[in-house]
Amino acid sequence: MIPSKLIDEKGLRVDGRKPEDMRSYKIEVGILKNADGSAYIELGNTKVIVAVYGPREAHPKHIALPDRGVVRCRYSMASFSVAERKSPSPSRREIELSKVIREALEPAIFLEEFPRTVIDVYAEVLEADGGTRTASITAASVALADAGIPLRDLVAAIAVGKVENTLVVDLNGIEDQYGEGDMPVAMMPKLGYITLLQADGSFTPEEFERGLAMARQAIYRLYEGQKKALRRKYLEIAKEVSEGG
Ligand code: ADP
Repeated sequence: MIPSKLIDEKGLRVDGRKPEDMRSYKIEVGILKNADGSAYIELGNTKVIVAVYGPREAHPKHIALPDRGVVRCRYSMASFSVAERKSPSPSRREIELSKVIREALEPAIFLEEFPRTVIDVYAEVLEADGGTRTASITAASVALADAGIPLRDLVAAIAVGKVENTLVVDLNGIEDQYGEGDMPVAMMPKLGYITLLQADGSFTPEEFERGLAMARQAIYRLYEGQKKALRRKYLEIAKEVSEGG
């Protein structure tokens, strides 16, 4: 159903949030046994699971580079992730987002330590309600850390958008569809480096600056959640080891 207003008279959004509020989120680490690293994220209704394999020998061999590792990324939306069945074959959008996600992660990885290898990152969107690329990036960096791959920093990401001339953080699906603009941002929060910045729609320079500051706030919150999730897993392992020994 198309809402008549995306911002009500009290300044609240369709799901009751204030403009600067992100959705509640949950991050879990190491949920897939077969993968070298894995993570699951829920951001509102958006749900993504990420598996990481590697660094491992590159196949086909010709993709290998002599001086650094290669990241291969596949972003994919499950057929049941949206109300109308999505075709399982990779769409142009999925191919583009696979590249966007890879480029947001690569600066964080010490790829020069793994020449001639490949790191595979698979992001599977189980439910899509806005912000799937940013949720995939946030979960993927946790999965890379879970795989024991040395990172300069984690990467956390969120989208800021414009709906009814108001800047809002963490667009949901309806806001993404009917809003005036969407600006996904990914950062290495501790280092303060931006690894992804896209803008769809139009933002004035002032809106752009303000949007970026709003994204940064949300990214710092996600960063805390990422670190907590990683810590939780390793505390559980430490407990198992001490109980076993
Ligand atoms: P992101 O998920 O990163 O915001 P887009 O801006 O391309 O990426 O998509 C916004 C939202 O549009 C998605 O999160 C999803 O809710 C919806 N969407 C994307 N592709 C489809 C599709 N094939 N069918 C229905 N909804 C879709």
